[in-house]
Amino acid sequence: RISKNIEDDSSSVKVGIRIRPQSIRERIELCKICTSVTPGEPQVTLGHKDDKTFTYDYVFDIGQNQENVFDKSVKALIDGCFDGYNATVLAYGQTGSGKTYTMGTSFDPGIQREEVGIIPRAIEYMFEKVESLKNECSKEDNDLPFNNLEIQVLAQFMELYNEEIIDLFANVPSVSYSSNIIATDGQIMATEAYLLNKNIKSKIEIHEDQYGGINVHGCSNREVRSTQETLEMLKTGARIRTTGATNMNLQSSRSHAIFTIHLKQYRFMKTESAENELETLNAKFHFVDLAGSERLKRTGATGHRAKEGICINRGLLALGNVISALGDKEKRGCHVPYRDSKLTRLLQDSLGGNSRTLMIACISPSDRDFMETLNTLRYANRAR
Ligand code: ADP
Ligand code: MG
Repeated sequence: RISKNIEDDSSSVKVGIRIRPQSIRERIELCKICTSVTPGEPQVTLGHKDDKTFTYDYVFDIGQNQENVFDKSVKALIDGCFDGYNATVLAYGQTGSGKTYTMGTSFDPGIQREEVGIIPRAIEYMFEKVESLKNECSKEDNDLPFNNLEIQVLAQFMELYNEEIIDLFANVPSVSYSSNIIATDGQIMATEAYLLNKNIKSKIEIHEDQYGGINVHGCSNREVRSTQETLEMLKTGARIRTTGATNMNLQSSRSHAIFTIHLKQYRFMKTESAENELETLNAKFHFVDLAGSERLKRTGATGHRAKEGICINRGLLALGNVISALGDKEKRGCHVPYRDSKLTRLLQDSLGGNSRTLMIACISPSDRDFMETLNTLRYANRAR
């Protein structure tokens, strides 16, 4: 076990704002654009008054594409994983603001290559790096500190709904032998798998090991060997989430989806003696598509829905508190309230400490969303 510490600067938590383009409908209904970005600065102003100007680590304005977002804010976090740093990317914002589009799990048919989002890009980049590292390692006089290397990649996909964890990879067959079945019967299978999971009231539990590492017991952790295989599984899991939710009259916008990649390196170190010394280096990468941040008032929720709202808010509230505690230098070393929700508990070892966090707050540019956008800008500002 190798433990590393991040240099003590504020760079372990970063916040970016992403402004989506107006939808056709918003244009037809003549909504005005109420967001503006200061040229050359990561700064957004809402409306016309300076009192609603906020500065972040990154601002991705309407014209910025998926590749810009990935290259500028996510790529380096994956590089870090190969050095043993955990990372978390979270998409925050009201429903319809572009969280799922940004994360890249909407899988619209006929999607153009430029439109592919963060997760598929991250998976592809990661497997490319695995290959090039292995290649480098197989060369006679490489500069690496090891002369043999095994890399294992595992993937998990969970949904958090009402403080309950649902395993989106349970009952999903390995793609390597049945990608055709998924393609044809995916819809039915996805629903059945979802219902099965809901009914099992799964014995999924969050455990903390003696080193502070968080493990989720009772949740599938699938070994994946290629970009293609990982993407197929992700697609099936995402379909389980949406079809399952639709069939049960649940709204996927009310749940958090967490896709996790575990990268395990087994390094046979170069030593003076003939015996090789084995070192393992593990890192986790969480990709979180958070529940919609819109407030209850606006949706007029009561009863069951209101309870859902409270649970979602508990997660989002706790997340805001955790990230703000981590980002605030003066609060360093103080209590970080991870235990206040399942979401923050689950992400505990990948937020702060030996890890890097990026929150992408997604907003709509249209004036009709002014108040929600203001809420999001404030939440994100606090997180920073
Ligand atoms: P959310 O997950 O926050 O509810 P979505 O990701 O589903 O929102 O986005 C809502 C709609 O806006 C979708 O039709 C999506 O394709 C579109 N959209 C979101 N962000 C962008 C963007 N940056 N560029 C183009 N279309 C986008
Ligand atoms: Mg969504």
